[in-house]
Amino acid sequence: MSIHFHPTIPIIEDNHDANSSSSDEDEDESENWDDWISDSAIQHVNCRSLFDDKVGSVEDILAYDKVTYNFDINEVCTKLSLDVHGRIRLINFIRQTKPSPANISLLTGKESFFSSDDFLRPVLEDDPLLQYEPGDWTDSEDEGSIPTERRIRSLEQKLAQTQRDFEEYRKIVNHHFSLGQIAESSSEGPSNSVSSQPKRDDDSHYFESYGANDIHAVMIQDKVRTSTYARFILGTPSVFEDAIVLDVGCGTGILSLFAARAGAKKVFAVDASNIATKAEKIVKANNLDNVITVIRGKVEDIQLPEGTKVDVIISEWMGYALLYESMLDSVLVARDRFLKPNGIMAPSQTRMMLGLCDASEIVKERILFWNDIYGYDMSAMAEELYQEAVIDVVGSHTMLSAPCIVKDLYLSSVTTRQLDFTSQFRLIASVDRRTKVTAFILYFDTFFTTSGNPVAPETEVQIIHENEAVIAEVWPLGGRPAPQRRMSHQHKKGKSLEGGEVAKAEVVTSFSTGPKSIPTHWKQTLFLLKEPFIVDEGFVVHGHFHCRKSDSNSRELDVEVHYTVQDVGNQNESQDVVVAMFKIQ
Ligand code: SAH
Repeated sequence: MSIHFHPTIPIIEDNHDANSSSSDEDEDESENWDDWISDSAIQHVNCRSLFDDKVGSVEDILAYDKVTYNFDINEVCTKLSLDVHGRIRLINFIRQTKPSPANISLLTGKESFFSSDDFLRPVLEDDPLLQYEPGDWTDSEDEGSIPTERRIRSLEQKLAQTQRDFEEYRKIVNHHFSLGQIAESSSEGPSNSVSSQPKRDDDSHYFESYGANDIHAVMIQDKVRTSTYARFILGTPSVFEDAIVLDVGCGTGILSLFAARAGAKKVFAVDASNIATKAEKIVKANNLDNVITVIRGKVEDIQLPEGTKVDVIISEWMGYALLYESMLDSVLVARDRFLKPNGIMAPSQTRMMLGLCDASEIVKERILFWNDIYGYDMSAMAEELYQEAVIDVVGSHTMLSAPCIVKDLYLSSVTTRQLDFTSQFRLIASVDRRTKVTAFILYFDTFFTTSGNPVAPETEVQIIHENEAVIAEVWPLGGRPAPQRRMSHQHKKGKSLEGGEVAKAEVVTSFSTGPKSIPTHWKQTLFLLKEPFIVDEGFVVHGHFHCRKSDSNSRELDVEVHYTVQDVGNQNESQDVVVAMFKIQ
């Protein structure tokens, strides 16, 4: 779904937007609402206009917006029958996406942001406009005719109601934005973190699906994935020799087997699905039950013997679009429960990459084909398809821009709270003729480092091509064991390392799920645009990328892309902001 807004200020230039960056600093911004100004002071503090940088008291600003922009927030709220939360969402929505007053008048009250808790979060810190009761400020027509005492009583009642409404609002916001923290400190995991609400079960179906054979076959046969883990584990004795290792979500136990082969002295292989039974058999069949202990259970719930702490956590937790499945939340709980202070997370870093894409083939296959079925118009079948992210493989020729990082996750420090995020993006069209952008494409890159530290920003991910030696060297052909020689790596400085240097140098092992690499089972995630747009060389597409766990299932994701297309010669002219919303489910 997409909505158009015509901004009065180009969105990219907004530095006041607390949600507009994915930097850790912004994300760690205090969500402590105790410093909210008291209600009685609201009239006197500085309030910012909804449409420009003018500041003044709430009353002055409301009057200013009315005179300058012919916009009355109270009128709009009344017209749309908004309650206090609807009003707050609307104010935050205006502040964040900067629609023109004319476009606001097109709202019906049914837009999805009116039910999104994201827009309960203040865009401007201590925004006084969020905290006032409209009745206090509007000019009631028959005010003069009401006796003063009745009017005071009525105002007192309104004030009390406002205070109750805001108390509720603060609770919602505090609750919503501290869920991550609760989940971190809870042993019950993200789906069960709200004790006052009936527990929703986002786990049973999830773990059942991992009990099946096929899903593990698909993962093991994903050569890019499995061979990169193998290269890292088997190729870095400095990390694994004599180490105590925790394999979070061991599945068949493949990563634990690699770790044992790499010289780990103890491996705890944990899985909450039925596959754990198979892992146990596999470990025994390979005579490694003296090293690997399979533990069946959620990593949030299990205990390791006598308070063991581990040197390394290995886990293959990545889902579609990286964060689908929300398994990373569990890995972070495992990190905080079991990893030694200087322990290593493998992988150590993942990056979400966004780009412009010509997905016209996929649009044809999945959407346009409904237009003519044996001569019948069945386009009704395609109506909702634009709201669902498509998981499919596209070729590298479909990329119409260099990708831009929308989330860089450092596994050693990221918190669950940071997994719901908003970040800015800026994509520059790299086309040699006018081309239609039919989708945003999202994929992720994964990095392993021997120190567990993040890679240097300029480090490029290794692109693995068909028949490349890195795959052959760990992938036994015809059932023969892999050749026993040192694995090749991509080195940080791009140099090949000889002899003694290996142990000292930081070695980076990586793989990409992008269209340049051999396709992986994660494929790519495509956000098809209901309203494709044309770009020429150098056009800039910029905006905000929002990603959060879905309210209805914490393992699914809601994504919004707010974007503006800017012609090369027209950098200063303000353009429409388009909001496109998607579900990854
Ligand atoms: N490591 C295996 C399997 C990866 S799939 C491999 O690389 O092939 C992810 C596995 O993690 C699944 O088997 C799933 O059941 C398990 N898993 C997911 N969340 C978990 C949790 N919180 N606790 C334990 N196991 C979990």
